[in-house]
Amino acid sequence: MREQIFEKSYRRVASAIEEKRIVSRQRAYLEPRIDIENLDIEILSFPVAILLVKLMDDPLLASRYSIAESKRAAAFLKRENDEKIIYLATTTFNWNVSLNSDITSRYKAYAFMIDFPSYLKNVPEYSPKWKLVNRILYKGNVLLTKQDLVRLMEEAIKDRILQQVLKRQNFQLPEDAAAKWVNKIEEKWKKYKSRISLRKPVKLSEDAYPPCIVSLIEDVKAGKNISHAGRFVLAAFLINIGMSPDEVLEIFKSSPDFNESIARYQVEHIAGLRGSRIRYSPFKCENMKSYGLCRYDDVLCKGIKHPLQFYYKRASRRRYGDKIHEN
Ligand code: SF4
Repeated sequence: MREQIFEKSYRRVASAIEEKRIVSRQRAYLEPRIDIENLDIEILSFPVAILLVKLMDDPLLASRYSIAESKRAAAFLKRENDEKIIYLATTTFNWNVSLNSDITSRYKAYAFMIDFPSYLKNVPEYSPKWKLVNRILYKGNVLLTKQDLVRLMEEAIKDRILQQVLKRQNFQLPEDAAAKWVNKIEEKWKKYKSRISLRKPVKLSEDAYPPCIVSLIEDVKAGKNISHAGRFVLAAFLINIGMSPDEVLEIFKSSPDFNESIARYQVEHIAGLRGSRIRYSPFKCENMKSYGLCRYDDVLCKGIKHPLQFYYKRASRRRYGDKIHEN
């Protein structure tokens, strides 16, 4: 039985690596399935898979595995009835979710509502759909479709699994037995990891920052409260030129209302490490102007359409000794 559990656990992790989701061995079944005939193995394979990923000690794999498992859980949730989903959301995550029973026909499509703080804490991605201004508020709650609520839960499940994998704790696995499976995972992961296009670290050239970014950094360092759009632009710019979320957070630490956990959540979203997995770009110059963030310089910004274009142009000039000709 022990080997069967390890094998099933290994298959969960291998599937996350290969397919970015947990699929059944019979590929005909694209929808996730539970192996009812071997329920003990099925249940135990989950915590053992977490331990195997933990032993790998690789945050990238931890993230890939957590996403795959959360997608599987979301697929199961979609099949559940409304009451069961509410029960799971309230008991597992302590969210204030209820059925939207008091609705006019206009909002019929929104079967659920969630309280404001739970919504804000669990917004899965930075996209117009999830912005509060684009949501329907009803008696202090945000209205959600079933799909929305499942998506919020998927994100919370991912975070919870990730915490489990990354948490430092003493645990015991029969080492000789685990080693074989950890090696197998390592072999498989090596191949895929090298294919994942990680951005090459770039040497940061602060003197190539455009005036708009210099101004935002000065404001943050001076402890001024900068607008939401300004924070977004600054974080997105720094991430896109190769800074890590930790390095970006260091800069934001001087903000008067700095809250590490909220800021980390937002910066990781912008970096594409959470939610939609999209790495966001700062606004183009035209939009920077409309947000009042542009600090146009007659000489430096001539012909520039995007702050990143400014940066790369100047940074490569420095690298190649100003030999690049402007078109
Ligand atoms: S023109 Fe563009 S790069 Fe220059 S300051 Fe304005 S927004 Fe920044």
